[in-house]
Amino acid sequence: MQNIVIQAADLTKSYRNGGEASLVLRGVHLSVARGECVFLVGPSGSGKTTLLSILGCVLSADTGQLDILGVDARQLSAAGQAHFRRERIGFVFQRFHLFNALTAVENVSVPLSLLNWPKARARERALELLQLVGLEERASYRVTRLSMGQRQRVAFARALAANPDLILADEPTASLDSESGLKAMHALKDLCHELQKTVIVVTHDPRIYSLADRILRLHDGRVVGDSRGLRRPVKRQEPGIGRQAAA
Ligand code: ADP
Ligand code: MG
Repeated sequence: MQNIVIQAADLTKSYRNGGEASLVLRGVHLSVARGECVFLVGPSGSGKTTLLSILGCVLSADTGQLDILGVDARQLSAAGQAHFRRERIGFVFQRFHLFNALTAVENVSVPLSLLNWPKARARERALELLQLVGLEERASYRVTRLSMGQRQRVAFARALAANPDLILADEPTASLDSESGLKAMHALKDLCHELQKTVIVVTHDPRIYSLADRILRLHDGRVVGDSRGLRRPVKRQEPGIGRQAAA
């Protein structure tokens, strides 16, 4: 498989509020290699969630090119996007989005049931993943009996259940205290490292920045910084606006 998992060029996205369209992504370029753990940071409203949603094929860009895992994402139909998401991408959210009535192992099995795995095999796989995040002893607990940090680790295990190549997480530590946030992120990092997964984490939690292989900074709908490319500034299409955004 090729080494570049995401290649985006000149992505734009606007939202329409009433009659007026507001441009939220203004020409995003990025390239992410297999196995990288990339943090996407930037002020509130800079377009982080929008960009992550586009990379996850939840939203479509208005213009630009986007290749994800060797697929031209802009050519996928809505059904094609849904199928691609289910098979290739794992999602993690700030508020976990677990089923409270289910146990940890049942929650991790959900994506596998959706892919029609036999129940016993799904359970076996879910238990393996819970072990990897250090929760094997809590596998049969309902998730409401777990701490917030443990619930997020269940969500990480679930995101990896279907063996996706790419994990996308939107502010995964925002509902956690410092210590459990760091512990949960360590678990995700180790898990992804061990399984050679690519991870993109949207965050503005500086407590976890040290866990990133690379930090991309978004400002006003553009990538204005790349921690591996500080001596090689990100190319901009419209220098005037870019300079302003970087200030
Ligand atoms: P971030 O995650 O960096 O805070 P977002 O991508 O959520 O930024 O939002 C970027 C901008 O787009 C914000 O100004 C936000 O208000 C606007 N926005 C986000 N989602 C929508 C939507 N569904 N409809 C209209 N405007 C939106
Ligand atoms: Mg956001």
